Amino acid sequence: MATAVLALQGAFAEHEARLAELGEKAFELRSAEDLLRPFDRLVLPGGESTVQGRLLEELEMLEPLRERIEKGMPVLATCAGLILLARRLAAHDDKGTPRLATMDVTVERNAYGRQLGSFHAVAEIANVGRDVPMTFIRAPRVVEAGEDVQVLARVDGNVVAVRQGAQLGVAFHPELDHDLRLHQLFLSL
Ligand code: GLN
Repeated sequence: MATAVLALQGAFAEHEARLAELGEKAFELRSAEDLLRPFDRLVLPGGESTVQGRLLEELEMLEPLRERIEKGMPVLATCAGLILLARRLAAHDDKGTPRLATMDVTVERNAYGRQLGSFHAVAEIANVGRDVPMTFIRAPRVVEAGEDVQVLARVDGNVVAVRQGAQLGVAFHPELDHDLRLHQLFLSL
């Protein structure tokens, strides 16, 4: 089958490039009609979560995708994608914007302050390996994780990678660095 990459807004092309490097067939989800094509995994790219959430609802894609994720379809969610997966947002972030809300975490948006709007780190990710490059762009962090959620990585004490079943969420942009290990883990789920 194939991987569907949500392509409403944000950094989806880079994910497609990384998947192509791994020999994985991918196509773009731009409308509800695209949901009729066969796919068995999903990438939620970085970008602007409020814009993506509103578009998902307007285009009637939110509910069908939520159902498939809840049934266990593997998802790789990066940055804004992680915000869309989060069941809860930090109180000051929660404007009631539509989200998939399938992962039992609380996420804070833009969590590293203005001066650290963008930065780079290298850290270990459980199940992935050591020295994984991480590019953060106005990134979120996970401030609370439920019992079924596994913390995979921390940077300076902040939780930046989590997994719940087949849902994989990271605060950074793995598609912008040339390290394919996280995408490999995703394809193995
Ligand atoms: N700050 C963005 C948001 O809140 C996420 C940034 C990103 O995806 N790089 O949606």
